[in-house]
Amino acid sequence: MGAYYYDLNTYFRAHFGERVHKLTVDAGFDCPNRDGTIATGGCIYCNAQGSGTGHHARGLSIREQLERSKAPVARRFKAHKFIAYFQSFSNTYAPLPLLRQAYAEALAVPEVVGLAVGTRPDCVDDAVLDLLEAHATRHLVWIEYGLQSARDQTLAAIRRGHDVRCFIDTVARTRNRGIAICAHIILGLPGESRQDMRATARLVADLGLDGIKLHLLYVIKGTPLERMYRRGDYRCLDQGEYADLVCDVIERLPPQMVIQRITGDPHPRELVAPAWALAKKQTIEMIHDRFAARQTRQGERYRPPTDRNRSGDDLRGHTLPPPGTGRP
Ligand code: SF4
Repeated sequence: MGAYYYDLNTYFRAHFGERVHKLTVDAGFDCPNRDGTIATGGCIYCNAQGSGTGHHARGLSIREQLERSKAPVARRFKAHKFIAYFQSFSNTYAPLPLLRQAYAEALAVPEVVGLAVGTRPDCVDDAVLDLLEAHATRHLVWIEYGLQSARDQTLAAIRRGHDVRCFIDTVARTRNRGIAICAHIILGLPGESRQDMRATARLVADLGLDGIKLHLLYVIKGTPLERMYRRGDYRCLDQGEYADLVCDVIERLPPQMVIQRITGDPHPRELVAPAWALAKKQTIEMIHDRFAARQTRQGERYRPPTDRNRSGDDLRGHTLPPPGTGRP
């Protein structure tokens, strides 16, 4: 474990005995919250590129994308093992044969030892889980579900297109398959209090997930959030507030949960605000300084669900799956 939390590098070293890097793959999939199946506008903060590299649009196959990004990373970090990270849009949202071909193509690239598949919790049927479960018998497989908030009013306000119950049910269907489960949450969503963000951390902790990614909400050009921001209807977090919130969340997570990221990575040309979102190194240092000042670390405020006198607030009235359902 790093000084204050169980980070991804430490996890990879424990799992593989060496440095491992994630390589981003753009498979050209879409999102039901953009293509009209649920909605056409997407989440209010959605980048029209879907955080994608644009490589698919430029005609690069999955194998070519991985081969191209492997070489410089191997040189710079002396890494010999890689995880293919399907990041853009919703990477289980395609016909099964297409998904089968995409995951297999990635795993056939030499030195690729696993998959990380980012998606929405409403886009994962049991056939996709069967496919990932089969890969998980021979490779490391992570699935990353966007939760963003454990508050249904917030999910409705950001036009997420699914509710918290959907996330909890999908996590329950994913368990006992050897697939590691990661949740994405966003800090600074409109209308959310510090208590709301702590409650989101509690839900992720209570579900016993394997990993989490913490994101800052930042304003991207051309999004509904930009219009809210320019009207004065949305205020960005300042850097110190964000650092404190990250500590609030991580303190409430169990010590064995892998903290996969603690900031976002906006593209400078697309970012409207806050400007400090580009100062990633400084933000990470500030978070570490906050942990030092608080004399705390991951798990400091974590209580297993049975040990806690849970108020309805913590789970927002949602029912947990039975305790002890397996983790990979
Ligand atoms: S789920 Fe992701 S890709 Fe889809 S609309 Fe929301 S932010 Fe965009």
